[in-house]
Amino acid sequence: MMNIILFGPPGAGKGTQAERLVAERSMVHLSTGDMLRAEIASNSQLGMRAKQVMDSGKLVSDDIMIKMIESRMADDAAKFGVILDGFPRTVNQAVALDEMLLGNNMAIDHAIEICVDEEALFGRIEHRASQSVQVRDDDNAEVLKQRLKVYHDNTAPVLPFYRNKAVLTQVDGMMEIELVAKKISEVLDS
Ligand code: AMP
Repeated sequence: MMNIILFGPPGAGKGTQAERLVAERSMVHLSTGDMLRAEIASNSQLGMRAKQVMDSGKLVSDDIMIKMIESRMADDAAKFGVILDGFPRTVNQAVALDEMLLGNNMAIDHAIEICVDEEALFGRIEHRASQSVQVRDDDNAEVLKQRLKVYHDNTAPVLPFYRNKAVLTQVDGMMEIELVAKKISEVLDS
């Protein structure tokens, strides 16, 4: 049974790679972004509060996120092994996750950092926004900028936590999707 985390800035392809892993291995994909979007879709109070934060590109509070993942984590990790996508995003969340796992005699086996050229990423989004007649796409470029900033300020500091545990591997996310998937598989099988 293996538990892994996928790290990478927005647009790095975490979700795509997670879905491939689910198809190839019997693991469960836990995406906190998907969980929050489900809350929004169901019009829950939590969803309505989270939407504002998400639309601004900022982070939903650690308390809420830790509780949200806690309810799924122990069961799914023990039964299937999990692919965490979008969690942990802060050092506080990483510490809480560690405690959750430790209490169940589990650990993170691999943390994969999907590395991308952010200039290229951003250029792509800006280009798309400039081609579009919808004003909203311009918002997206702005929000992406904020999300990248949040990634550097809050999530990048989580990486040394896993480097110190000797479970962190970097994968070049600028390669073809197939090749990125192959590299990740090699890491998981190593
Ligand atoms: P994602 O789909 O993973 O890019 O998440 C979309 C948005 O949901 C993020 O920009 C955050 O606002 C929020 N979010 C998702 N996961 C977390 C998390 N672990 N901690 C805080 N906010 C989160």
